[in-house]
Amino acid sequence: MRTIGFLAMCTVVAVMVTSPGTVSNLLLGAATELRGPFNDQTHDWRPALARGDRADRHAELIPAEDVVTTRPWETVAEVIADASLVRVSKANLSQDAAATVFTITLSQGLTAEVFTLSNPYRVVIDMPEVAFALPDGTGRSGRGLVREFRYGLFSEDKGRVVLDTTGPVRIDGARMVATSRGVDFEVRLVTISDAEFGKGTGAGRAQPKPTAKAKPRITAPDPKDRLAKISAKPVIVIDPGHGGIDPGAVGVSNLLEKDVVLGVGLALRDVLKRSGNFDVRMTRARDIFLSLDRRVEMSRHHEADLFVSLHADSVSDKGVASAIRGASVYTLSGRASDEQARKMAEKENASDLLAGISSDEDQGASDVRSILIDLMQRETANFSTEFSNVLVRQLRSNVSLSRGPQRSAAFKVLKQTHAPSVLIELGYMSNTEDERLMRTRAWRQKVATSIAKAVGNYFRKRQARR
Ligand code: ZN
Repeated sequence: MRTIGFLAMCTVVAVMVTSPGTVSNLLLGAATELRGPFNDQTHDWRPALARGDRADRHAELIPAEDVVTTRPWETVAEVIADASLVRVSKANLSQDAAATVFTITLSQGLTAEVFTLSNPYRVVIDMPEVAFALPDGTGRSGRGLVREFRYGLFSEDKGRVVLDTTGPVRIDGARMVATSRGVDFEVRLVTISDAEFGKGTGAGRAQPKPTAKAKPRITAPDPKDRLAKISAKPVIVIDPGHGGIDPGAVGVSNLLEKDVVLGVGLALRDVLKRSGNFDVRMTRARDIFLSLDRRVEMSRHHEADLFVSLHADSVSDKGVASAIRGASVYTLSGRASDEQARKMAEKENASDLLAGISSDEDQGASDVRSILIDLMQRETANFSTEFSNVLVRQLRSNVSLSRGPQRSAAFKVLKQTHAPSVLIELGYMSNTEDERLMRTRAWRQKVATSIAKAVGNYFRKRQARR
């Protein structure tokens, strides 16, 4: 009873529960069908996501130097210091005879939206930006209908939790309950058949053809925003992979790939800027999710002369994890250089799916292999290979390299015709020694300096040929 009273008193607290698979409705902006116990208290969640008055909220396309950065490995206390944000302090899964219940503890109520996705089956919980203050490793194991879950910023002003489910589920209910600790936000999931899931969504609608209306999630930059290339300095776009809702690979002691690559990315930015020879931009300078298309689009927008995507690998086979380590440099190719490289690209290309973007928005990762070679300008491909040569030579003298460190595969983020691009796997998070190094400032600095030297050498060579 207290729940209802709490909700009724407090207008900012509302849970909107939509029927399974309403992602198509959501994207098209059509009215979503409302169900669940609190329909009468529901209001549109969008106003609650309006920009806050914090000064550090910037559009992604502003110069990196103007972005207020968050450092990786911040302590939880620092992260939650922003008192204007609702804090998520606990996440729990429980199972009773009828349902799996996912609960998060919030410092206060908020407006959320819950929906399901198929291919693979997932439940997505969207909220305004919140401060996730959950212990390391949270979500890595599941219970009942939930295999595991992720959480993090999905975009400016939007926090997200994605639950990977064991099969098709229905959202049986969602509610916020006031407790002495704050507010418990519970989502109840029950198992259903594939056919029932299809019925709830329309099997066809679960996989709609992207329409003109559904597309603009990835918006083209306004030409007015286009930053004139005022200096003759080469533009380097640094792209720390993953971020926000997508943690990337998880290390042996729960270090996250998204934090490692942001740390190296920021260090690389600083070294390159200090040289005074480059105009440096970053796709992200904080812990936020960006789709792969968005990263490519930002590279184009900034008129990159070189695009460097930073990642860290991991092998799931514990038997070989101790033997496999070191950095690798990847360039784009329709045919992968080896099976391991092919798998790597598949894993990295899944970033959008992990973040809860439906597969129909993903523009078909499977198409990538067949079309990218036709699209690639030969010259750009050659420059990418040339930079990869210079980079591997430079890294070799400073950091440990994998066996056969120069590889190629169909990475979506490297699908760029305008700029040479490489993807660096900095090491293996599944390897104890690599992970230990990745935690250290000295290693980040060393890697950043090596990459920066390679960038310097590469452009010196190119300019000398002009
Ligand atoms: Zn990655």
